[in-house]
Amino acid sequence: MNSRQDVIIIGAGASGTLLAASLLRGAHSPLRVTLVERGERLGRGVAYSTTSARHLLNVPAGRMSAWVEDPEHFLRWLRVEAPDTPPSAFAERRRYGQYLESVLKESAARAAPGVVLETPRDEVTAVADTADGVRVSLASGASLEARSGVLALGNALPADLRVPDGGLYASPRYHRSPWMPGALEGIASGESVLLVGTALTMVDTVLSLGERGHQGTVHALSRHGLLPHPHRAHGAKTPAAAEPLRIRELLRSVRREMDRCRDAETATQAASPSAEGVVPFSTLRVRDVLHAMRQEVEAQAAAGADWRAAVDALRPVTTPLWQRLSETERRRFLRHLRAYWEVHRHRMAPEIHDALDAWRREGRLVLHAGRVLGFELEPDAVAVRLRPRGEREPQVLRVQHVINCTGPESSPASRSQPVLRGLLEAGQARADALGIGLATAGDGAVLDARGQPSAHLFTLGPPRRGDLWETTAVPEIRSQARDLADLLLRRLGVSRTPPSEAAPTASP
Ligand SMILES: Cc1cc2nc3c(=O)[nH]c(=O)nc-3n(C[C@H](O)[C@H](O)[C@H](O)COP(=O)(O)OP(=O)(O)OC[C@H]3O[C@@H](n4cnc5c(N)ncnc54)[C@H](O)[C@@H]3O)c2cc1C
Repeated sequence: MNSRQDVIIIGAGASGTLLAASLLRGAHSPLRVTLVERGERLGRGVAYSTTSARHLLNVPAGRMSAWVEDPEHFLRWLRVEAPDTPPSAFAERRRYGQYLESVLKESAARAAPGVVLETPRDEVTAVADTADGVRVSLASGASLEARSGVLALGNALPADLRVPDGGLYASPRYHRSPWMPGALEGIASGESVLLVGTALTMVDTVLSLGERGHQGTVHALSRHGLLPHPHRAHGAKTPAAAEPLRIRELLRSVRREMDRCRDAETATQAASPSAEGVVPFSTLRVRDVLHAMRQEVEAQAAAGADWRAAVDALRPVTTPLWQRLSETERRRFLRHLRAYWEVHRHRMAPEIHDALDAWRREGRLVLHAGRVLGFELEPDAVAVRLRPRGEREPQVLRVQHVINCTGPESSPASRSQPVLRGLLEAGQARADALGIGLATAGDGAVLDARGQPSAHLFTLGPPRRGDLWETTAVPEIRSQARDLADLLLRRLGVSRTPPSEAAPTASP
């Protein structure tokens, strides 16, 4: 493995694994691919390394195939063991990790002669974009060179809240990420816990605590205190008109909030026309999107569907819409709409929603809307100073443990992403305008500090969120993997497998 590779992929989560499989399947002449992963297993990453049977996919099985052109591939794989699995089933996430690994193995086994995959277990410590390729340094002390490199580094650890922590962050009462192995060790069954964040990471953590037989009160707090909505239950007879009203109400209130914000901005601009950071509105505004969405909701309601169909209808056009928004509008979306978007877009399986409902009814899970102002470590507890949403007076909540469930930190300058930080410092990459990912060209090439696309270094998946917004779920990642594999094979002069031969097996 010391000789020069054609492609080095860094990270074997869903993104790196799907890209490697696409390269192996697409290459018809010799190709050397190296997939470097620091973790024990391939195809797992943050999302699919869970060992809990309670952690389910949040996308139905019928939409989780590894292959764009074979949408039922995952379903068939599941049906080998469970023949009655419907496309609407929410499979265990740990099963999905096994599936991704099997897709990779099968692609390697069926690859054309001379198409080779190597999978060293190592941690990449630095990447350099060189004159004719990339150089990758490994924690083991070795280094690798390749004609192309792909950053599939995925989800970083959650960021600590930037508030006075009163010694909490260095204490065993703080759990920086619920995804770290053994993260919940040290929490006794009767102890009270605060989960910071109320999205899907929080939901996972409640389920994990439940699996451990946790009896203490679990508090969950976020600025809006919103929980993800459930997917529609399979075969459910939800009255069509009932739920669209909820989204209409939501959209109206968001629109009002945005109007207020725009008025304030216009007033600032009038008072000080040269004020920095005031950018003229582009032709497309977030409110236009909301308007279109409301019309869609009404159309769906008239056709007897519920609001989820309207949200899902936006999915194929989310990226073009996002790209047409000015930076100001994107920031506005992040500031005012993101929390609402997330709970409607990233929904949970109905059975998980029911489990959470039971926790809440029994008073074991208490939701709070508000902002954490700071923490203070006490001899037997953590005093959490918070300001409830809409109130002036801070309150103190005492718990025994705090678990950070805010989800992956998106900034590429994060301290848990040394590879990206190194590239940023060397001017070989730059953050997108919003600072929530890497700036990339349309084909996934990493842009350098001057905005020039690299000829050798690419990325896919979560690091592209600033440019694409919709880029973190498997349906988007698999399309990116296919397109990037195609591009790399063309650039490397590798002949491509005719589509008829590249078809995945009928019964995995
Ligand atoms: C909890 C959770 C549940 C999700 N559920 C779903 C779902 O049900 N359906 C859906 O469509 N999407 C889901 N997603 C979204 C999506 O599938 C994931 O975000 C996706 O798995 C991203 O894959 P990735 O490979 O880009 O990142 P990651 O999963 O983060 O994988 C990155 C990999 O790179 C490795 N790595 C990182 N740095 C280095 C380094 N320096 N050297 C070597 N290796 C390195 C890591 O060890 C890791 O294995 C979920 C996401 C999360 C977080």
